Amino acid sequence: MVNWSKIDTVLLDMDGTLLDLRYDNYFWLEYLPERYARQYGLTVAEALKWLQSFSNSLHGTLNWYCVDYWSEAIGMDVEALKLEVRHLVHFRPGALDFLEFLHDNGKRCILVTNAHPKAMELKLVASGLGDYLHARYSSHLFKLAKENTGFWGKLQQEAGLDYQRCLFIDDSLNVLRCAREEGLPHLLQVLQPDSTLPARPRSEFPGILHFDEIMPA
Ligand SMILES: [Mg+2]
Repeated sequence: MVNWSKIDTVLLDMDGTLLDLRYDNYFWLEYLPERYARQYGLTVAEALKWLQSFSNSLHGTLNWYCVDYWSEAIGMDVEALKLEVRHLVHFRPGALDFLEFLHDNGKRCILVTNAHPKAMELKLVASGLGDYLHARYSSHLFKLAKENTGFWGKLQQEAGLDYQRCLFIDDSLNVLRCAREEGLPHLLQVLQPDSTLPARPRSEFPGILHFDEIMPA
């Protein structure tokens, strides 16, 4: 599935690829609605419904990923709330072995995430992921999300990447489609971003359930 002799840099998504999306799903679908309900005197179901419709209105935009925007919009300190549950930030099964494999084989590891720089730093520290990276880019630096046209050209300029030698791994179909349109030839989809939920159906991209599938035995 991956011809490693042709790859010297691996571009890695964070949430749902290296880190278990369980944390984010728990935070946005359970923890935040409970706290929001308490603050505004709503039922948890009402809070969830409101937060979901607000979230849907931002989907696909950089603001959807922006903790500062969210904090301002809902009148709560989202970064502080995320910190309260940081003990739930975990690697996806096998992700640490994969990072060690990349390190042992001299591949450059670059994180490319839509997470806000504050959320990114919080997770890099909480998980220990920061120790494995040669570079890290939050899409907020470019004022475009990874699924927005123009993102991949900007990243290439900033990071000086030869996309022919890069493998990019992400769990989001919209992100992978944008990367393909902007000239990244080696793409791979993680099919089970949340270890507690069923895998997603296969798409037009090669997909993996576990990093074992792309590590030579
Ligand atoms: Mg992701």
